[in-house]
Order: sequence, then structure tokens, then C-alpha cells
Amino acid sequence: MQPSLQTCPCQINPASTSVGSTPLSYQDCCQPYHDAFYNDKIDQVDGMSAETAERLMRSRYSAFVLVKPDYIVKTTVPAQQALLDVQSIESWAKETDWAGLEIVKHTPKLGKRHAQVEFKAYFKTPNELQTHHELSAFVKVKSKADNDARWYFLDPTVAMTITQKQPCICGSGEKFKRCCGGYI
Ligand SMILES: [Zn+2]
Ligand SMILES: [Zn+2]
Repeated sequence: MQPSLQTCPCQINPASTSVGSTPLSYQDCCQPYHDAFYNDKIDQVDGMSAETAERLMRSRYSAFVLVKPDYIVKTTVPAQQALLDVQSIESWAKETDWAGLEIVKHTPKLGKRHAQVEFKAYFKTPNELQTHHELSAFVKVKSKADNDARWYFLDPTVAMTITQKQPCICGSGEKFKRCCGGYI
């Protein structure tokens, strides 16, 4: 599916009852985020990065729909990236018949550097519309290079070999249990 100027995948919400609001096109919504990641090296990127956890969540959903597994990997907290299975992300993205996204609740600030997004991702099976309901955690990581801060997804399914007392995987300098450990 190449949605050049079509409605952005993240703007399709099967549960929405609002009439008259115009959904954004892919170009005006998630594409700039996806393109920034594909045009630059992540450590040196000065392209667009998601301003909020919700924005990142939306662009990640669209990346699943458009099968951009690299984007999924690169927007996961750097310490987890090498542990992700790109192949299975790609086949899952391809095999799923995505039907829309509903942001249930965005908590933009939790403590110093975290945020949570509760969402429902809709997908179709031969007989019905199904929902994947999840509460995702995100962490804002400051890069030393350009003093820029970026949101990353914390993947709770990735097994981390880290103890609660070790420095956190996000590089904050705090102990894991006091930082991201509370969210994954
Ligand atoms: Zn979008
Ligand atoms: Zn952390």
C-alpha cells in the first residue's frame, strides 16, 4: 500500500463518531517522520523527530501499516534495538490487516522523562474487526551530540539482562528501577 496523498493510516479511527473533521493525509501527518529516519543516520539525524509520545505512537502505527520495520526499530529505545527481531516485525506488519488507530489516552508527562499512550489498534480477521488494546510507555532521551531530546518506545516484550540497581538503559544515569524499570 503506497498512500501517496491518501489519508494517513493513523488517522483512520473505526470508533470515531465525529463528523466533519478532515483526517490528515499521509504527507501532512506521519510521512515527514518516516522520511527523516530513512534519509539520515539516526545518531546524526536533524530531521523531524516526534514532539510527543502520542506523535511517536501514531508514526509507529503508520510504520506498521506501511511495513517500515526499520522505523519501528529505530524508534525503540537504543539499548533494545539490537534485541528486536526485524524479520518478525516485518512479517507481522505484512500479515496483519490493519484497520485503524484510536488514541484512548495520552499522558504526556510522567515523572522527569516518561510518557504513556493508551491506544487501540484495529485489525481485521476474516469474520470480524478486532482490537489490540495496549498501554505503551515512552522515554525521552537526550542525545549528547546535539543536546536534542527524542522520544523512544520502551518495549516491554524485550527481555533485558539488567538488574534493578544498574544504570538505566535509557542513559539517564539513574538506577533502572527508579527510571524505565517502572514502565517495562
Ligand atoms: Zn499519521
Ligand atoms: Zn530510563
